[in-house]
Amino acid sequence: MLHTVANSPTRFSSGARVAVLLPLPLVGVYDYRVGGEGAAVGDFVAVPLGRREMIGVIWGGGCGEVDERRLKPILRRLDCPPLPKVVRDFVDWVAAYTLSPPGAVLKMAMSVPEAIEPARGQVACRRVADPPPFKATAARARVLDAMLGLPPLALADLAREAGVGSAVVRGLIAAGVLETVDLPAPPAFARPDHARPGPVLSPAQAHAADALAGGLEAGFSVTVIDGVTGSGKTEVYFEAVAAALAKGRQVLVLLPEIALSAQWLGRFAARFGVLPAEWHSELSDARRRDTWRSVATGAARVVVGARSALFLPYPELGLIVVDEEHDGAFKQEEGVLYHARDMAVVRGMLGGFPVVLASATPSLETLANVQAGRYRRLHLPDRHAGAAMPAMVAVDLRRDPPPRGRWLSPPLVRAVEEALAAGEQAMLFLNRRGYAPLTLCRGCGFRLHCPHCTAWLVEHRRQGRRLVCHHCGYAIAQPPECPQCGADDSFAACGPGVERIAEETAALFPDARVALMASDTVGGPAAAAEIVRRIEAHEADVVVGTQIVAKGYHFPLMTLVGVVDADLGLEGGDLRAAERTHQLLSQVAGRSGRAERPGRVLLQTWEPDHPVIRALVAGERDAFIASEAEARRAAGMPPYGRLAALIVSGPDAAEVEEYCRRLARAAPRADGLVVLGPAPAPLALLRGRHRRRFLVKAKRSIALQPEIRAWIAKVDGGRQIRVKVDVDPYTFL
Ligand code: ADP
Ligand code: ZN
Repeated sequence: MLHTVANSPTRFSSGARVAVLLPLPLVGVYDYRVGGEGAAVGDFVAVPLGRREMIGVIWGGGCGEVDERRLKPILRRLDCPPLPKVVRDFVDWVAAYTLSPPGAVLKMAMSVPEAIEPARGQVACRRVADPPPFKATAARARVLDAMLGLPPLALADLAREAGVGSAVVRGLIAAGVLETVDLPAPPAFARPDHARPGPVLSPAQAHAADALAGGLEAGFSVTVIDGVTGSGKTEVYFEAVAAALAKGRQVLVLLPEIALSAQWLGRFAARFGVLPAEWHSELSDARRRDTWRSVATGAARVVVGARSALFLPYPELGLIVVDEEHDGAFKQEEGVLYHARDMAVVRGMLGGFPVVLASATPSLETLANVQAGRYRRLHLPDRHAGAAMPAMVAVDLRRDPPPRGRWLSPPLVRAVEEALAAGEQAMLFLNRRGYAPLTLCRGCGFRLHCPHCTAWLVEHRRQGRRLVCHHCGYAIAQPPECPQCGADDSFAACGPGVERIAEETAALFPDARVALMASDTVGGPAAAAEIVRRIEAHEADVVVGTQIVAKGYHFPLMTLVGVVDADLGLEGGDLRAAERTHQLLSQVAGRSGRAERPGRVLLQTWEPDHPVIRALVAGERDAFIASEAEARRAAGMPPYGRLAALIVSGPDAAEVEEYCRRLARAAPRADGLVVLGPAPAPLALLRGRHRRRFLVKAKRSIALQPEIRAWIAKVDGGRQIRVKVDVDPYTFL
């Protein structure tokens, strides 16, 4: 029954055999027979699957081996615009590249199955003009009273409003006193007005904007806006958005953390008169459904979203902007493992339209593509309106250590004092959630760790005192005694998280208003927007936060950024540790001094001579990138070589080990390809599963996917073993 789609016609008449792709992680498509009205490729259809009914998409002509007599019929075609060819091609492309079942990718494109059928308009109750005589009761009178001055309400809402059971309302309808009317579906998304004037651009901005808008005529291209923080990259790509809208195309803007993007949304609304359609995990079900449907019908013209917005069924997409393209949040680490920046480029290529990547710290991958001439680069070297780049200095913790049990060094404390005295704001950055990353027994040194993962438990104090595993969410209250030595009340918090820095800040500056910003303390998008508003309105003096404070915010009074532990990201030392730390610290630093008042940045470090710290302090980004690139080239690592990881996991350690031994024996052998491993993963235990890793490293000229597919197919692991392939891995845990 399973097979792949052959070349085939795109329209099918009644009785024809078609291949339907279902949004399930299966290997191929299933054959069905077309019903009376005919069907076309791309149609959404309901089909029987076992005893269930499922919605799938006609992917092409059928050619399976299923006997004609056993072929099941398509139950019905759904009233939805067909999935466009370019989206189907994209699904196939992503599946092949990531070695995922096409159905698993289709599932991302059909993430709101309820939206595939049109929303039924709400039914509401209204008084008839000339009611027949009817029996009046107190309850009925309450209903009629409640309706005065209100628009027609849905039956349940009306009953609630009147404080009666819904049977009373139904009785009034039956008696002919009330009638029901269809309410039109609420207007989906207002059209952004591309003709509204934007700000007057500086010559450099105008040059970049013209280059982008000009590129819209020329089909597929990738352009990198490489501009320092505060140079106006957003204003520049808004011009490209306006130009694409003027041409009648849909636009997608990908942001790494859309739930934290209130400022961005405000700027979009100021520029285009309305809010764009948002797409992220915090949407309500109704909103998600409206959005999916409006994208499919073309009613939504601009979508701003997290990486999954790439898989929406745009019929007229004509521009994708990937803002903060270097950001690690674009890599999806669960389910289908893909990098949204790279897949955005693929989507542009398949759709024949331009893709814009914006960053103050472009990734090495992107810069290598610029160097190879595949991507075009537009440079914005200066901040808008003459604002200066902040001065960066290292605080050498060997010379100026903080007092015992504290984390802010005397120079940083002085700098915060000065900023506060000048009526300005300061930001203290530490990329670690919680109160303390490690809790140990003072008596015997026992460390509290997660029973399901290779990880220490992190103490959190804000939402009740708890110890939490950051990998699986396991949480406990602090035990009263040490499980190892039995000592009472012997646990000590080791090291700082942001909560502890906030506590220290409050103790040092009792008059300052301290705001804490970390993904687990902020809550939803509305709460995040509220904190940002408070900072903008100068209702906070010191902001203490994790990497979520680094994201694109513009706070005019923020003149000081203190990095509590600049060495943090350099530990562990995976492939991109230096690059990532450089990017992150540049981004945080970029929050400082963005308006008239000059900014400064203090980096607390134990290693002021580390190349990353030296590059930041000297402002030598390009030299740093060049040396990183050289090291990667020498090692044959991405972007100069290909890399894929295999993560093998299972509930039984010995079984995982045995399977890995067999995999190792069957490993592909080819010139320019090496298989490293198996090695226990750094997270050797995750959610109760034992894990081992292989790394496959190859020259760029070798296509890894066929090698890996053939390799895994050779060795059967049985039911308990799971093999996850991560093409272009970004985490090595
Ligand atoms: P980036 O995205 O490069 O960090 P932004 O686009 O956020 O920079 O611009 C920084 C600030 O300068 C924002 O408040 C923005 O509105 C303002 N700005 C940038 N360019 C202009 C311009 N040409 N006219 C007026 N304001 C501008
Ligand atoms: Zn855990």
